[in-house]
Amino acid sequence: MATLVKAERLVKEFRVKSAILSPKKIVHAVDDVSFEIAEGEVLGLAGESGSGKSTTGRLLLRLIEPTSGRVEYRGTDVTAFGSEELRRLRQKIQIVFQDPVSSLSPRMSVGQAIGHPLEIHRLGAKESRKETVLSIMEKVGLSPAEYIYRKYPHQLSGGQSQRVVLARALVTRPDFVVADEPIAMADVSVRALILRLMQDLKAEFGLTYLFITHDLATAKYLCDRVAIMYLGRIVELASRDELFSKPHHPYAKALLAAVPIPDPRVRKPKNLPTGEIPSAIDPPGGCHFHPRCPHAMKVCSEGRPPLREVAPGHVSACYLD
Ligand code: SF4
Repeated sequence: MATLVKAERLVKEFRVKSAILSPKKIVHAVDDVSFEIAEGEVLGLAGESGSGKSTTGRLLLRLIEPTSGRVEYRGTDVTAFGSEELRRLRQKIQIVFQDPVSSLSPRMSVGQAIGHPLEIHRLGAKESRKETVLSIMEKVGLSPAEYIYRKYPHQLSGGQSQRVVLARALVTRPDFVVADEPIAMADVSVRALILRLMQDLKAEFGLTYLFITHDLATAKYLCDRVAIMYLGRIVELASRDELFSKPHHPYAKALLAAVPIPDPRVRKPKNLPTGEIPSAIDPPGGCHFHPRCPHAMKVCSEGRPPLREVAPGHVSACYLD
């Protein structure tokens, strides 16, 4: 499959100014991250909160600007796009945010919210836009569409709100969607339905996803490949089957060990990393994971371990490999 989206050595640093952090400090949110996503693929980006997953997703869409590095879409460098080129690009690449309620305006009806991107991108004739909106609403399961079209966000259930956000992302017929923890705020009963819907929509619209999650169980369900992030860096990337059966990096192993197994007879090993994820303002030197790693050696605090291929298509950044 052809590469649809490519991130090349992306770096994002934020300057933090505060009374207690003086002089200015730098948050190393994304630290030299590279990957490719093939057309039709679902790449998972997984890790604890603060690992840089969401910032990476926003960099791909240029919702924020990289400090350095570049993003390619269909082989074209979009990092230097001006506002008009960017507007056209955003028809094709969309984002679904974690919290559907806060990403919907309380003053816009469902129909207005879903139709808004059609107005922004001047897609279709004005008279035909309602039909387009009703059609996408039916596809995401907002039925009866004519009835829900007139509702406002406060009148929707959590599952319906998430479907509205999906419909709004898909109404411009994108081919790439960054789904940023799309089920994290949903009730447990709704999560499986939304994941299944995302799979169905992928098949129907030929979509490619970057699926951002802290939950490896959902990554296992939806993704073809999974990248594990820790403090702004990718520490392991492999196909789903390879990662779940033969993880290499100690952090990936610890995350996998924490995935619950729906069988009360199975006891999980307790080799989880100790302590909190360190601050990205002053991350530990060398391998960022060394203060929490049960296998840390002297070399681990001295230099950054490179991503090395440990099997075809499987890379890990650890001195043990
Ligand atoms: Fe642990 Fe060292 Fe490997 Fe980092 S490089 S994960 S500290 S063994």
